Amino acid sequence: MTTRKSIYFFARGQTEGRADMKNLLGGKGANLAEMTSLGIPVPPGFTITTEVCTAYYANGGRWPEGLDEEVRAAIRRLEEVTGRGFGKTEKPLLLAVRSGARVSMPGMMDTILNLGLNDETVEALAKEANPRFAYDSYRRFVQMYGNVVLGVPSEEYEKLIDEVKARKGVELDTDLTAEDWKELVQRFKQLTEERTGKTFPTDPEEQLFGAITAVFDSWNNPRAIRYRELNKIPGDWGTAVNVQTMVFGNLGPTSGTGVAFTRDPATGANVFYGEYLMNAQGEDVVAGIRTPEPISKLKEVNPKAYEQLEEIRKILEHHYKDMMDIEFTIQDGELYMLQCRSGKRTALAAVTIAVDMVKEGLIDKETAIMRVDPEQIEQLLHPTVDPNQELDVLTKGLPASPGAAVGRIVFTADEAEEWAARGEKVILVRNETSPEDIGGMDAAEGILTARGGMTSHAAVVARGMGKCCVAGAGEIRIDFEKKEMTVKGRTFKEGDWISLNGSTGEVYAGAVKLQQAELSGAFGELMSWADEIRTLKVRTNADTPRDAETARRFGAEGIGLCRTEHMFFGENRILAVREMILADDEEGRRKALAKLLPYQRDDFYAILKTMEGLPVTIRLLDPPLHEFLPHEAAAQEEVAKEMGKSVEEIRAKVESLKEFNPMLGHRGCRLGITYPEIYEMQAQAIFEAAAQLAKEGIEVHPEVMIPLVGTVEELAFLKARVEQVAKDVMAKAGVEIPFSVGTMIEVPRAAVVADEIAKEAEFFSFGTNDLTQMTYGFSRDDAGTFLNDYREKGILRFDPFQTLDQQGVGQLVQLGVERGRKTRPDLKVGICGEHGGDPDSVKFCHRTGLDYVSCSPYRVPVARLAAAQARIEEKGQS
Ligand code: PEP
Ligand code: MG
Repeated sequence: MTTRKSIYFFARGQTEGRADMKNLLGGKGANLAEMTSLGIPVPPGFTITTEVCTAYYANGGRWPEGLDEEVRAAIRRLEEVTGRGFGKTEKPLLLAVRSGARVSMPGMMDTILNLGLNDETVEALAKEANPRFAYDSYRRFVQMYGNVVLGVPSEEYEKLIDEVKARKGVELDTDLTAEDWKELVQRFKQLTEERTGKTFPTDPEEQLFGAITAVFDSWNNPRAIRYRELNKIPGDWGTAVNVQTMVFGNLGPTSGTGVAFTRDPATGANVFYGEYLMNAQGEDVVAGIRTPEPISKLKEVNPKAYEQLEEIRKILEHHYKDMMDIEFTIQDGELYMLQCRSGKRTALAAVTIAVDMVKEGLIDKETAIMRVDPEQIEQLLHPTVDPNQELDVLTKGLPASPGAAVGRIVFTADEAEEWAARGEKVILVRNETSPEDIGGMDAAEGILTARGGMTSHAAVVARGMGKCCVAGAGEIRIDFEKKEMTVKGRTFKEGDWISLNGSTGEVYAGAVKLQQAELSGAFGELMSWADEIRTLKVRTNADTPRDAETARRFGAEGIGLCRTEHMFFGENRILAVREMILADDEEGRRKALAKLLPYQRDDFYAILKTMEGLPVTIRLLDPPLHEFLPHEAAAQEEVAKEMGKSVEEIRAKVESLKEFNPMLGHRGCRLGITYPEIYEMQAQAIFEAAAQLAKEGIEVHPEVMIPLVGTVEELAFLKARVEQVAKDVMAKAGVEIPFSVGTMIEVPRAAVVADEIAKEAEFFSFGTNDLTQMTYGFSRDDAGTFLNDYREKGILRFDPFQTLDQQGVGQLVQLGVERGRKTRPDLKVGICGEHGGDPDSVKFCHRTGLDYVSCSPYRVPVARLAAAQARIEEKGQS
């Protein structure tokens, strides 16, 4: 049962639809109606609504009652408007039947052109135009109908065309005559009948009904279903069906067809951009057999049509206040518009167009901000693969960290560092990475892993570094012994060149050409508007002064997470760290920690200085200790020598520190409880660095953060120690430093007892990586192996490690904020999990009342824009 009209008519003066009826009429139908109302020449027609398609499915694949009568009535109306007759042997009405969903699903569903032709009407068309054209149109119809409606593969028809061409010794379709096409029509029909066992329908009404049904059915063809899955389009939307009078671009030299954008979709420049082909139908342009001409050339070939197009370009931009993508046909010098929709564009174009349109007075700043997809703008910050080249795609992994990288393959982090030191560009290829690989990752141009998901170590660290990374490319097999990898039977050795596209996950053989990112003036302007509007602050996750500096340049308002463990891997440090871990007693540990202190102090000094005037949240040591231990014999020997112990003793200690579930093990504040001296050393380093800077007149705001807290007692125990160290250092240095001590909320229990925890915590930072891991019980390191199945089978619609699960994990965040602020109304609350850079999650954080989000440096502009959008959306609702 449909509740509304089933059919909406469009023709000059008789148009029933509008652009804002996309849900009902599909994007194409709604805009055809709108253009008609605007007085733009559109071939008249009608749209069968998406509701009818839904009803068709609800009805078990049968037309809803009364639809046939309504279609007949619409056809009669179309006959009146056009002065042509459907199935008539004088001025026959020919139709195009096209799908059109709410959002564009390019090429996924079906189209049938030239409908209404049969052995009689074709003769009328021949008389009206010319026989060659008429029979070519007829065979196109039989071929399309046979393929789309009756399921005969297109190639079988093409084979018959090739046979005729071979027999005649010609190469091009254009060399075939009317008689040839006439013969082919009969052979096509015969072929169709042989393949389907049915006679080819000659009754135009039967043809039309069959075509409409085929379009309904195409909503559920496998490629449309797949497309919807990938683009998160609900399966119950259905498609509309547009039935429209045919116009012909292949009537001769004064006819043609083309596509255009009202501005350049690559750069955003305010120029008319497009291409066309004379004497051709739309499918010829798409098929790429003939090379189309640039639209500017149409000015010479057909100045009248060109001027009219220019005029339409202006009308459309003023009306839609957006850059539009249009399709047009010129029939015998007359221009017709067949489609218009908001044009797809690069990030650069999106930003340029939005800012230009504000200046042209077409839109306001808020609309400009809403027009740009935050996810897209990261493209503007990284070099990218130049699209104008042939690419040899080897395989595809996850687009873990955007940008592009070109380099020579190395298989270990040490080699990456050695090669880079020699000035080589390298790509580090690993099964997965671990904290030990940090140096090599930093030295590499890009990182490729065979395993791991979007929050695997490689992905998180690479995003933090703003480095291109393709993760989880499962088709790669690495042989570390032979120093080679194989992909689909092709072998690559150490030193061979490969390239990565971190925005698509593609891996290419050889060195591809890159294009540098351009930070256009428009980008800066748009971001300044976003900053005026947003209330949510944006900080960065940064572990090094270089990252901190990058993030500041991108507008970070502080550091929300400085992970100190990465500092432990530096040269000279790792040995002291290992000594500390392997020491037999507290005294031994303190000795080793004393060696680390000056390094840590220098680290903090540099970072706090870079972030002068801004808050810096420094997290005390978090990962399980065994991640720092040597697992290879050579490294174990080195430590043994340094510590004056036997290799066996070292090996035994390494064994004893192994855990079954290290991520649920002896890590985070649990280390601080067992070994308070570690946290004390870190606190001392922080406050000594801060004191030094304060003396130099540099404003610092350290915030000390305790990870993985689950009980208030843990926090109280450690906070007291940190405060004692701070007091001692400040007294000794004779300076006062404003600081605070807070906690991460990463353990579900912490969110539940947030009111208790807030008695001690001066701030909260939601570590949603661990919080997601522990709420779902999904290992963040291994879940990649089955999350894909979950996505494909519709169990999960998104990766919860990438986009915050608002329904589950989000509730814990909400609860934590509410309960925390009940105890401490001015509690500062942020988020520092990967979600801090995901636009949907940023918007959630705004709505939940967080003070800031913190994300990797290259995500800072993304978060700034998303935060502004969240504020605009909120204003729209109040
Ligand atoms: C988190 O758990 O969300 C977090 C930021 O900490 P890490 O990723 O270092 O565990
Ligand atoms: Mg964590």
